[in-house]
Amino acid sequence: MDELTARREIVNIGKLLYERSYVVSSDGNISVRLGDGRIVATPTMMCKGRMSEDSLAVTDPNGKPLTDRKPSSELQMHLLIYQERPDVKAVCHAHPPHGTAFAVAGLAIDQPILSEVILTLGCVPLTSYGTPSTNEVTEAMRPFVKHHNALLMANHGAVAYGADVWQAFDRLETLEHTARIAILARILGGSQNLPKDAIEKLINLREASGYLGESARCQACGYLHRTSLVCPTGDRPAATGLAVANGDAKITLTREELVELLTQAVHTQNSGNVL
Ligand SMILES: [Zn+2]
Repeated sequence: MDELTARREIVNIGKLLYERSYVVSSDGNISVRLGDGRIVATPTMMCKGRMSEDSLAVTDPNGKPLTDRKPSSELQMHLLIYQERPDVKAVCHAHPPHGTAFAVAGLAIDQPILSEVILTLGCVPLTSYGTPSTNEVTEAMRPFVKHHNALLMANHGAVAYGADVWQAFDRLETLEHTARIAILARILGGSQNLPKDAIEKLINLREASGYLGESARCQACGYLHRTSLVCPTGDRPAATGLAVANGDAKITLTREELVELLTQAVHTQNSGNVL
């Protein structure tokens, strides 16, 4: 994408983010990585609904401004994603209300409830809280960036990325739409998860169709762990958040945590016998 097109599309997407209430005030940021490695990014402290093409910042691949326009301090998050994912050319960060509600409630969007979301987006993990504009945020995100195309940031918002700025926006929109449906389904009594064999078929289909590659099998969500599909790189990040399905809270424990819990239970029972 050339610089003029990138500027035009960033302004268009900024308006959409604002009109759809994915951002308010000067929230959020959008960037595009150009073919020569330079980055066109939204400026600091400006409403995304009221930007003009000449208000955008341009930086080198390390985030150093190349003009007098200063990019958002959250550009570090974009730089991390560009470093970890050579295929990614655009990043979109916002605070969409339903997705952000999951992030505030400490929940990942990781239940297999919608076939098309498994096909096109996969699960969205919750990364732990970090002070905005510090490396706490980027370090929390780092393990997940390779295998996911969208992330929730605890007590903050969401970020999505893709091969171009529209794909990044579409993924953010799918994240928000999924979160909204999940919340509505909870109000109606709870969602029905897709069974394991249906999930496996969808994952095979998405790889055959080129929606998501094999690296997305390494996602953090529990429903992928329960399939018989093997993660090719083996560096699947740990499951995040509380998995809530059919109204029951399921808590994921590591083997060590389970052993510790059982040991404590045995000790408690033994002390009870003595007394
Ligand atoms: Zn933010």
